[in-house]
Amino acid sequence: MSRVIGIDLGTTFSCVAHLSPEGPKVIPNLEGMATTPSMVCFTSAGEILVGNLAARQALANPEKTIFAIKRLIGNKYSSPAVQEARPRLTYGLSEAPNGDVLIRAGDRTITPQEASSHILVYLKRCAESFFGEPVTECVITVPAHFDDHQRQATKDAARIAGLDVLRVINEPTAASLAYGLNRNPDGVVAVYDFGGGTFDITLLEISGGVFHVLATAGDNFLGGDDFDQRIIDRLRADFLSKHGIDLGSNPYNLQRLKEAAERAKRDLSFTAITEVNLPFIAADASGSKHLQTAITRANLEEWTRDLVERTLPLMDKALHESGLTANKVAEILLVGGQSRMPLVRKKVGEFFGKDPNTQINPDESVALGAAIQSGVLEGNGAKDIVLLLDVTSLSLGIETENGEFEKIIDKNTTIPCRKTKSFTTVDDNQRRVRIHVLQGEGSRALENTSLAMFDLVGIMDAAAGVPRIDVTFEIDADGMVRVSARDVLSGREQKVSVHPSSGLSPQQVENIIEREKKKAH
Ligand code: AMP
Repeated sequence: MSRVIGIDLGTTFSCVAHLSPEGPKVIPNLEGMATTPSMVCFTSAGEILVGNLAARQALANPEKTIFAIKRLIGNKYSSPAVQEARPRLTYGLSEAPNGDVLIRAGDRTITPQEASSHILVYLKRCAESFFGEPVTECVITVPAHFDDHQRQATKDAARIAGLDVLRVINEPTAASLAYGLNRNPDGVVAVYDFGGGTFDITLLEISGGVFHVLATAGDNFLGGDDFDQRIIDRLRADFLSKHGIDLGSNPYNLQRLKEAAERAKRDLSFTAITEVNLPFIAADASGSKHLQTAITRANLEEWTRDLVERTLPLMDKALHESGLTANKVAEILLVGGQSRMPLVRKKVGEFFGKDPNTQINPDESVALGAAIQSGVLEGNGAKDIVLLLDVTSLSLGIETENGEFEKIIDKNTTIPCRKTKSFTTVDDNQRRVRIHVLQGEGSRALENTSLAMFDLVGIMDAAAGVPRIDVTFEIDADGMVRVSARDVLSGREQKVSVHPSSGLSPQQVENIIEREKKKAH
């Protein structure tokens, strides 16, 4: 069997790792660094730059430099996630005929799956150069709160990049694997994962090498980018009131502000005050204008306290759903770059009544955990080390009368899992029953993510209420949904025709792969 790599495809940074005989290790990128900016740039010369190369020229080419793809992947153009991200992007977005979001980079329009695939191609190349042999299989991580569309779209991105995904695992769960290996901890561990675009809190029970996820909660619209945005908004408002010029109206200035804000935020995790200095950022009749200001840690904390505090009720929720209290948590692991902020550490410490563990590297632990899981699947001995029992983070159900949502599999059920529900007809000789499958926690169908419509077709003629069709809803170990149906009276497999409401069809994925292959020749 060839080597299997573990990939953390992050909102802002990505990381790739493998399981060596000495344990999980990060594979450096082609520039020798542990993490790679999740950025892709299409240059005027037709080149595609990825990672640091893309990041370095983002200023010169803001409209063709793609970042934060993870906020878009698997989402509809009209979704709150996309609409919230839109004003912060320096590139364009548009709507696909099926409502999915598309990326516009100059005159090129691509799907988020294709954009992510460029990052994955680069990570694959890093691994191939490290091992000196082709790599075609991976374990890939996603935020615990990714729904079926987002998971499928991530898998499609990998497939376009020439990688078979052996398993999709949740990021916080991966981090706990990295922490747990060799430490043999027993007890409840909380993983507080604050990344660039999402927040997740996961509670796990670790016992004798079995990692059992108890509950997970989170927010797909809360991440480090929101902190950057608060700084950008302040700098922009101050500049407008001082000089009467709006820096946000120009993508080049917006990119400069974005970089400066993120840098200031990082600095303030280690220093009490930092300077933002952007010379010649604008000009008017009176001459050039410079942005020069100091930001203190206290300023940043005041501007963003509510963002940190938004994570607290989610922790309460996860505790409640697992039937635990904060004092039962033995260890708190911090994952994701935003968890480096001192205010975050303080609030988390106060919540649990103990200091979080700072031994694990928040940037690398997710990829290292994915590498452990890849070793388990590779069958290289790691099989005996860990057993992972994850949960589904979203309830799965169907639309019923009057647009209500009926849950069939509740959130936080251990996966893989399956549940069967019986359906019948309401009219005599009815040949077809339509089922609308949704994922989410809202009580109304409309409040949840529509996964697909299923038509049960070819039902035999019978009086209303006589046919019985058992529909089985399954969530596999990747957290992905499958549906099958059986006509109970005849014992026949019932035909299910699927109308997925999002994403690329298998044929579209194949077409993209073919197109990329042709380009490469
Ligand atoms: P991740 O998705 O885990 O790569 O997290 C990236 C997020 O962490 C970005 O929003 C970064 O700006 C943020 N981040 C990285 N380092 C720091 C730091 N030292 N202090 C605060 N935030 C940071």
